[in-house]
Amino acid sequence: MEKVLGLKCRECGEQYPKSPVHVCEFCFGPLEVEYNYEEIAKRISRQSIESGPYSLWRYADLLPVDGEPICGFHSGFTPLIQAKNLGNELGVKQIYIKDDSVCRPTLSFKDRVVAVALSKAKEFDFDTVSCASTGNLANAVAAQAVTANLNCFIFIPSDLELGKVVGSQIYNPTVVGIHGAYDDVNRLCSEIADVYPWAFANINIRPFYAEGSKTLCYEVLEQLGWRSPDHFIAPAAGGSLITKIGKSIKEFQDLGLIEKSPTQIHVAQAEGCGPIVNALKEGSDFIKPVRPDTIAKSLAIGNPADGIYAVETVNKSGGCGEHATDAEIVEAMKLLAATEGIFTETAGGTTLAVTQKLIQSGRISTDESIVVAITGNGLKTVEALDDEVSPPHLIQPQLSTFKELMTTL
Ligand SMILES: *Cc1c(COP(=O)(O)O)cnc(C)c1O
Ligand SMILES: [Zn+2]
Repeated sequence: MEKVLGLKCRECGEQYPKSPVHVCEFCFGPLEVEYNYEEIAKRISRQSIESGPYSLWRYADLLPVDGEPICGFHSGFTPLIQAKNLGNELGVKQIYIKDDSVCRPTLSFKDRVVAVALSKAKEFDFDTVSCASTGNLANAVAAQAVTANLNCFIFIPSDLELGKVVGSQIYNPTVVGIHGAYDDVNRLCSEIADVYPWAFANINIRPFYAEGSKTLCYEVLEQLGWRSPDHFIAPAAGGSLITKIGKSIKEFQDLGLIEKSPTQIHVAQAEGCGPIVNALKEGSDFIKPVRPDTIAKSLAIGNPADGIYAVETVNKSGGCGEHATDAEIVEAMKLLAATEGIFTETAGGTTLAVTQKLIQSGRISTDESIVVAITGNGLKTVEALDDEVSPPHLIQPQLSTFKELMTTL
């Protein structure tokens, strides 16, 4: 028996064979990978996972790739850091950083989803991969297309941070900058996907791509010694990561890999682009699209594809959503650097700023265990720190001049 049964519509339950489709023909609902958990239960155990490779592929039994993967051999398996200094600063006893700012090869959690997406694209016989991206996805697709020997087209908003543009160009894909916001880029890509026979990571093979997000959470559960934390705080752009955190905890519980203990899942977004958090705060179960205006560009999706499912996941877990302003995002980036020596990008600043708010308001109490998902690297968004870090002291190469400087410090 195979571990993957096929695809299933999240809305009407219509079933589809494994194929590069993402929308239900009948109700336009999104499709999701459906597994044969009875079959998986026969294969998987804590021991089988622990003896697997040191990458996201140690969870291959729960990923929708049938053959051997073709990339991502060193992606995932990032550190879970017990953040003592940060905990002291925030007055909490057990706070952990899941540090995907050092995920290989392109320093964001998108390397996980892309490893799965491109391996699946190859199984579907595509020779060209593509994506609409706020930056990190573009970097991951461009880099891993090289490993996988696939042609690559990248579509990004024209106003992205330089680090994220160069971080794609270096791998020699065709990079197309669109005058518009991410949501315009995504709409154009949907039209292109109808005409060109390409695998778009986050469009026609999205159901497979999205499954890769689960590995961030699987790792946390394993690294905590096979248990789930009291609180999990993660950022949302399209909302996929949040839904997959809920799914991975449930899968590990159902497979008997961890005990059933409650984990509240909280979602972090920027005030300048927080449609999922808005819906949670309003108690609404639909998403009102917004026009993004924030420094957290990697999270700047105004009309999130998985928004309503993210809302559902958070509500079901008993969690909540909170915004962070651009100023709070920068402060939190500086705090994480100053306490834990971790340089995260604006998305990480958003998540930590929201964590701080939940602790300060008493929503999270001081003795509960907290995991903060840090999903990207600060070297890609240095623009956010313009005027925020003091410039170096410039001196002539003379000991006397240095001594002079020392008297002024
Ligand atoms: C894409 C991205 C996210 C959010 O991912 P979704 O699954 O689309 O919600 C979070 N952090 C970073 C750094 C990202 O690039
Ligand atoms: Zn349907």
